Amino acid sequence: MRRHPWVYDTAIAKAKGKPASGETVSVRAAGGDFLAWAAFSPQSTIRARCWSFSESDRIDGAWLAARVAAAVRRRAPLAAESNALRLVFGEADGLPGFIADRYAGQLVVQFQAAGVEAQRESLIDALVQAARCGDVYERSDSATRNREGLAASSGVARGAEPPERIEIREHELRFLVDVRRGHKTGYYIDQRPNRLLACRLAAKAHAALGRDIRALNCFCYTGGFSIALAAGSAAQVISVDSSADALQLAHDNAALNGQQCHDWRNADVFEAMRALRDAGESFDLIVLDPPKFAASHHHVERAARAYKDISLNALRLLAPGGYLLTFSCSGAIGIDLFQKIVAGAVIDARVDAQMLARLSAGEDHPLLMTHPEGEYLKGLLLQRI
Ligand code: SAH
Repeated sequence: MRRHPWVYDTAIAKAKGKPASGETVSVRAAGGDFLAWAAFSPQSTIRARCWSFSESDRIDGAWLAARVAAAVRRRAPLAAESNALRLVFGEADGLPGFIADRYAGQLVVQFQAAGVEAQRESLIDALVQAARCGDVYERSDSATRNREGLAASSGVARGAEPPERIEIREHELRFLVDVRRGHKTGYYIDQRPNRLLACRLAAKAHAALGRDIRALNCFCYTGGFSIALAAGSAAQVISVDSSADALQLAHDNAALNGQQCHDWRNADVFEAMRALRDAGESFDLIVLDPPKFAASHHHVERAARAYKDISLNALRLLAPGGYLLTFSCSGAIGIDLFQKIVAGAVIDARVDAQMLARLSAGEDHPLLMTHPEGEYLKGLLLQRI
């Protein structure tokens, strides 16, 4: 066992008895040696998720509380950046399948695996104590629950009903978050450092070019990158998304930050980009942050074509000297493959471009070194030369 937290069904020769969903079991080598304490999940191909590789550990309420408290403590330095933070990130924090996010005075949790579902009350108690916050909303509605044989579950888990919109602060900016209906737990907390980067790049481009700059944000959701680009002094920001609800919130977020340079477009990005090209438009900064195009390994090829298509269209719309921030949150597409896809788009666009940085999720979404599957968000910062 190489301290990887997952045990696949195919790796198990035999299960002793019939452990219930989420029950703690010991994982043993063929010779009987102890390997790990794990949560059993009878319906999932990830048949067991490891809690601990120490035989002396007892997986009880106190043990779980210590893990939650440690995860929350590790995020303490990030409070200066934002009051919207991921406090617990599943496998990376030694609590496989448990997600806990803070939005100002509201906590939002997700139980994505049988083990943490079986321990839900202990985990919520521990979180309330560690985060010193009594209002907890549950958003256990992600697709991963299906594979664990768990039904979707959403609603108040502790304390009061959350307000319709929660105002959070991210660096100098303010955003409204809808924890009931928003994506994930309401907001893309993971892109925090990259939104700050977009803000700084806009300021840099403005200074370097010595004129007003134009930015394009594709798949803008509630306007995170758009607001950051405008804060960095982009004179005009065009943002595109196919969700009218997301755009309504984006519009209100712009007002909350006193910004008036936005043009919100309710459209399909693939079509909108072609239309912009036909109209001869050009931009100094473009952000592409699409939804997960590859839901699994089966969809990699089709997803690669989609990533290439949008990157190609973006490069054609990019002015010389302009920046492109392009992302993929498909776990099935690694950073090396993603870089190859974008390089293919550069070739087809017949432009010269430099890669200035590889990007990833913020520090509150760490990667456990023994669990490379945990890496999902990746991005590239390119500059057209
Ligand atoms: N960058 C955002 C998160 C993007 S989530 C942030 O930092 O908050 C992806 C968004 O893409 C969603 O809002 C979804 O509505 C939108 N979307 C998905 N497919 C689309 C398409 N074909 N055209 C336009 N928008 C699309």
